[in-house]
Amino acid sequence: MVNTTGVTRKTVQKQLVNDIFLRAGRPLTAREAHDLARVARPRIGIATVYRAIRRMVEAKELRLVVIPGEAAYYERSGNGHHHYFHCCACQKVYVVQGCPGSMKALTPAGFVLERHDLVLHGKCKTCAARR
Ligand SMILES: [Zn+2]
Ligand SMILES: [Zn+2]
Repeated sequence: MVNTTGVTRKTVQKQLVNDIFLRAGRPLTAREAHDLARVARPRIGIATVYRAIRRMVEAKELRLVVIPGEAAYYERSGNGHHHYFHCCACQKVYVVQGCPGSMKALTPAGFVLERHDLVLHGKCKTCAARR
């Protein structure tokens, strides 16, 4: 049943999830978003966070970040071309500024390059200091 309370709750949940992604400033898994959401609202369920994320992906406010072999990460849309650093120790994903540029040299002769994805893997500053 759709009522005004339901609509309001949806909007509030979306606002909360949006704020979490905005404040994090890096891609988050649904689980990470849920952990952060619980700071503000201890009783929020992970299914609620999943639903809010799915709705925001459908609305193109969030987009999926695919790190091969890892969980699905999401980030706010519209931040231009960028790349990622995946920490193998804490599993956090960070946005990397800069781009090595055209990968044309790697593209086989006769192939047409349309785009590239780049993920660096290693240890973040916090994990690298903790050894
Ligand atoms: Zn780390
Ligand atoms: Zn690039």
